[in-house]
Amino acid sequence: MILIVDDRPENIFSLKTILELHSFPTDSALSGEEALKKTLKHSYALIILDVQMPGMDGFEVAEVLSGNNHTKDIPIIFLSAASTDKKFITKGYSSGAIDYIIKPIDPDILLLKVTTFYKLYEQKRELNIVQENLKLEIEFRKRAEHQALEKLQELHSTLESIPQIAFTATTDGVIDFVNEHWFQYTPTTKNFPPNHPDDPCIKKEWDKSIASGYPLEMEVRIKKDGEEKYRYHLLRALPVKEEKTITKWVGSFTDIEEQKQAVKRKDEFLTIASHELKTPLTSIKAYIQLMDMMTSADDKVKTYVDRTLLQINKLDNLINDLLDISKIESGKLKFDMKELDFKHLLATTVDTLHQIHPDFNFVMVGNVSAKIQGNDVRLEQVIINFINNAIKYAPKSKEIQLITEIRDKHLYFGVKDFGIGISKENQENVFTKFFRVTESGVPIQGLGIGLYICSEILKRHNAAFGVESEPGKGSTFYFSIPFIS
Ligand code: ADP
Repeated sequence: MILIVDDRPENIFSLKTILELHSFPTDSALSGEEALKKTLKHSYALIILDVQMPGMDGFEVAEVLSGNNHTKDIPIIFLSAASTDKKFITKGYSSGAIDYIIKPIDPDILLLKVTTFYKLYEQKRELNIVQENLKLEIEFRKRAEHQALEKLQELHSTLESIPQIAFTATTDGVIDFVNEHWFQYTPTTKNFPPNHPDDPCIKKEWDKSIASGYPLEMEVRIKKDGEEKYRYHLLRALPVKEEKTITKWVGSFTDIEEQKQAVKRKDEFLTIASHELKTPLTSIKAYIQLMDMMTSADDKVKTYVDRTLLQINKLDNLINDLLDISKIESGKLKFDMKELDFKHLLATTVDTLHQIHPDFNFVMVGNVSAKIQGNDVRLEQVIINFINNAIKYAPKSKEIQLITEIRDKHLYFGVKDFGIGISKENQENVFTKFFRVTESGVPIQGLGIGLYICSEILKRHNAAFGVESEPGKGSTFYFSIPFIS
């Protein structure tokens, strides 16, 4: 908007008319004082200022405008009766643009000057906006940088305060921070502390994680600089993400030597104990079987002998499970694989179970024929385990479905019961060693190792396995194994 300042309304009127005809918005003031008041309230692109006015004259108004930050840049066109020394006019008004027009006003000259000033004003305004935005942007970035730095310092202090070895790395896997503990193991931050030659190479696993973006978790033995003894550490490294993009990695080595030793001692005890138990039990079993053969069917003692044999078999299974566990732990659970007819294997297994549990109804669903590569004794162990669990955990139901199907070049086998079922969160853990569901409220005996052994056997058969279940309705334990034909 253009402010026209003149003590004569008719002058204002004629200027207003010319300017508005050419689409310039205008405002007016009848004195220098009024003009100053208006400039404080509004923002003007240009002021057309009459030099001679009663009260404050044009120069005085210009003087005041030049002293105010808000108004010092407004261009001024003076209207004067005679040619005025320009130098005098600009005195004290250094930054604002200045020009003059001699009365009587030539409308063409007025418009030319007004257009020029207006354009200048517009350009300046745009420049100011750009500058302002730039300033904001710089401030924003500075603040963000400052915050990021603060966060980083906070993270470093936290990592310094923990008892583990800790480090951070860039997205390319370059270690860029380590805490004090790190230097007890290696003097350099370029590489990880050297690990035991028999353990997997940390660098290789690290590179895999960096390439895939997946967290790293591995157990490795590392030793302090100058010491001989390696100690087990759990190395974990997690990607730190901002809006789904990895920005850095944070990792730690936790000393787990004590836990490792405790587990080792427990495993050794289990192995020794189960071996020691196995030998006398085998003799007892042989004697009882002998007694069984020596007693006739109508002999009252035979009932007791059979019951004893049943209990001995249970004990035998338990000890075998414990022995299996120690074999798994020491990597000695090995078995031969050969071509098997699964339908035949299932039929003989179910036959045996039917004799032990004659009151149960084993319903064959599908029952397809398929040849697979596997170990018959171990697969039978899995089937028996699934079925025994179906019997154990479905005390009110007598039906068990045995489902065989061909799915995607795999043989699917499932044992479906109509028992207590398993909640979603527990389903994830049932194949874990020593895991038992406790909240079902139904006290059923067990050690929580059967399914763990099954899972290890199935893994060695390259089989997928799992459970589908609904609490109160029942469960289906299944495996899916590649078939040959
Ligand atoms: P155990 O039966 O000796 O406790 P398992 O390893 O065979 O050990 O099973 C682990 C746990 O899984 C069991 O304690 C039980 O809570 C749950 N489970 C296994 N099979 C079933 C099933 N068919 N129905 C409900 N829960 C089951």
